Amino acid sequence: MPADYSRNPVLVFWETTKACELACVHCRASAMTRPPPGELDTKEAKGLIEDLARFDRPPVLVLSGGDPLMREDLQELVDHAHGLGIPLAMSPAVSESVITKMAAFKGKIRCISISLDGGKNAHDFIRGTGSFERTTRAIQQLALSFDLQVNTTVMKLTVGELPEALHQVKKLGVKTWEVFS
Ligand code: SF4
Repeated sequence: MPADYSRNPVLVFWETTKACELACVHCRASAMTRPPPGELDTKEAKGLIEDLARFDRPPVLVLSGGDPLMREDLQELVDHAHGLGIPLAMSPAVSESVITKMAAFKGKIRCISISLDGGKNAHDFIRGTGSFERTTRAIQQLALSFDLQVNTTVMKLTVGELPEALHQVKKLGVKTWEVFS
């Protein structure tokens, strides 16, 4: 019998906020520095989490954005979801403070994904000067505490640097590399 994902969803992606400190050239989320009006407040977000907890087997909740670390209530929401037995994953933006901020979620967030768009040239062009160094350092550090996946978006700007992205993935010992187009 085919799986009925409306009754048993496996993954739920929640774009928690549009707020993000970065300004990547390809940003699908149209990120902005402050959260716009209309995003779920803490009570509404907890309601969403409680809805997910009602499934016989709660799906993995993937907290994305924008940058979920920009939400001031993130710790409260993670604690709530963790307490209800919902497996959690997160895709944080690699800001200057990502390593420090993620330390608070060790043991509660199971898996995180970090974007690496190629070698230094492509990655820094898309995400800003210095981002490549910051990202490779974050991958090394965060892999000590979380299951870590690297995501690479293939576009004209990055396709020539896919071999360099693969080289970095291998060099950094990353087990999961997801390539998007
Ligand atoms: S890190 Fe993600 S959310 Fe932030 S600007 Fe870049 S693509 Fe957009």
